[in-house]
Amino acid sequence: MTDLQAVLDSIHKELAPRIGEGKVADYIPELAKIDANQFGLSVVTVDGKVYNVGHAEVPFSIQSISKVFMLTLALGKVGEGLWKRVGREPSGSAFNSIVQLEQEQGIPRNPFINAGAIAVTDVVMAGHAPREAIGELLRFVRYLADDESVTIDDRVAKSETQTGYRNFALANFMRSYRNLDHPVEHVLGVYFHQCAVSMTCEQLAKAGLFLAARGSNPTTGHSVVSPKRARRINALMLTCGHYDGSGDFAYHVGLPGKSGVGGGIFAVAPGIASIAVWSPGLNKVGNSQLGAVALEMLAARTGWSVFGD
Ligand code: GLU
Repeated sequence: MTDLQAVLDSIHKELAPRIGEGKVADYIPELAKIDANQFGLSVVTVDGKVYNVGHAEVPFSIQSISKVFMLTLALGKVGEGLWKRVGREPSGSAFNSIVQLEQEQGIPRNPFINAGAIAVTDVVMAGHAPREAIGELLRFVRYLADDESVTIDDRVAKSETQTGYRNFALANFMRSYRNLDHPVEHVLGVYFHQCAVSMTCEQLAKAGLFLAARGSNPTTGHSVVSPKRARRINALMLTCGHYDGSGDFAYHVGLPGKSGVGGGIFAVAPGIASIAVWSPGLNKVGNSQLGAVALEMLAARTGWSVFGD
């Protein structure tokens, strides 16, 4: 039996001299203020045991990791019909790229690039005022984490609303192809708030545990999705969860995962554990630099890669 706490402690110790590496996202002014010298890692096993190291209890902006939760809600609402609005192929392009949208007539490549996530949010908004859709997402995340203290950082949402020109461009482009049903400002209002959900590594690992445990949270007993849906969400994270760094992440880490520009990465070892790591400094493709290194070390030391040990 691997001593998981010892593994986490050794990773933290070895990475300590490197904490602060990478570049904090600065295109969202509120995120540019975050101290890069932070590192947290949390592992929650399917039998409910929690292992933490470093700043695992400091809340951070989950940003694009929220796309996993919104996707889960959208699939719950419209099921496989979702795939008329968004594809399931890796993009090979940057997270905020507009290029393929024109080639593919306003249908984004996958639900995890920005354009795809904006379309997914639009789907969840059907029949709701924007405020209700934000409330639904927040309630869902709190329910998954079994923690009512999860909040949305309004300053981050406002900061992105003021500077998210690229996301406005993507949304307007999709609306011109009739792939958005709601006004652009409403959809982005919800999208920016979902990205501004603030969670600790521990809360995030707990919230995502259902994806490691065939769709149900073994600690709360909540059944969230079917085993088939959990498997499929994991497949999408493996192939598309790190933008144009997805192949590299699969190569080095070998786990389904989703990154966010806040420096968080959520990852799943199916049947074993849910993992969240946070270190705000990003690499060239906008994924947490040390977060990816830590996950590579964790996968190597536990043998958890889905491709074998
Ligand atoms: N809110 C960010 C954006 O839309 C999310 C990007 C990310 O986390 O990768 O630009």
